[in-house]
Amino acid sequence: MLKGKTALVTGSTSGIGLGLAKALAQQGANIVVNGFGDHAGPEAEIRALGVQTAYHGADMSKPAEIEDMMAFAAKTFGRVDILVNNAGIQHVSRVEHFPPERWDAIIAINLSSAFHTTRLALPGMQQAGWGRIINIASVHGLVASAEKAAYVAAKHGIVGLTKVTALENAQGGVTCNAICPGWVLTPLVQKQIDAKAAEQKISVADATKQLLQEKEPSLRFTTPEELGALAVFFCSQAAHNVTGVAWNMDGGWVAQ
Ligand code: NAD
Repeated sequence: MLKGKTALVTGSTSGIGLGLAKALAQQGANIVVNGFGDHAGPEAEIRALGVQTAYHGADMSKPAEIEDMMAFAAKTFGRVDILVNNAGIQHVSRVEHFPPERWDAIIAINLSSAFHTTRLALPGMQQAGWGRIINIASVHGLVASAEKAAYVAAKHGIVGLTKVTALENAQGGVTCNAICPGWVLTPLVQKQIDAKAAEQKISVADATKQLLQEKEPSLRFTTPEELGALAVFFCSQAAHNVTGVAWNMDGGWVAQ
């Protein structure tokens, strides 16, 4: 379905981003991989699906590096047809104790980076008359939790950016949608589970159970593969008139 198209997925060396990259690669899209840590392993996993990959290690908190990555993607594959804004970090602390530098980093990586990639990807998509922008927000783009001020602010912000981008491109073949996952068991969440276990002196298994019970009525994690299937739907012809939505996949979290 996506043969000949290029998808750039920020933060695709791990977790949800890697799952999304693989789902798009399964449909034939070439992938521009981004993110920290080992990239050779994730790239090999993606290439095993029969597509090409290219890696750019831009730090999503640095606009100049983002500009370089977007130019690199265009030069390598001709154009970015599918942009997935996924890179994200977390910090858990009450507002009055929240370190200002963590606030700045979360707003830069979880929100402003999507503005920069989007503004740079749009002209090529508009010219081609086809494009898909998928923003990985969170249930925290729709509702709040205590001790996540920067994350909740950034995720609500990215839902807003999604809507504006959708409206400005309502005609012309470019859609922009947000995906709002509940809990997904990735390194980002494992850190929060481990902290909970240490703080309450309980086992990691009990901390995991507690984490799900607090927020997610289904009592199960969403998987990167399930999120990938939703991203593939957004890229399909059937979804050409789906734009500006913030679609939660959260086991009932936001329904409460
Ligand atoms: P993860 O920690 O497994 O992966 C994050 C990715 O982002 C990694 O590839 C990392 O290298 C990259 N990254 C981090 N900082 C970066 C930077 N400055 N520049 C470039 N890349 C950077 O986390 P994840 O759980 O897969 O999270 C991915 C996205 O999904 C995030 O936006 C997160 O907010 C969102 N999300 C996660 C969950 C969850 O439960 N895990 C739920 C809702 C939304």
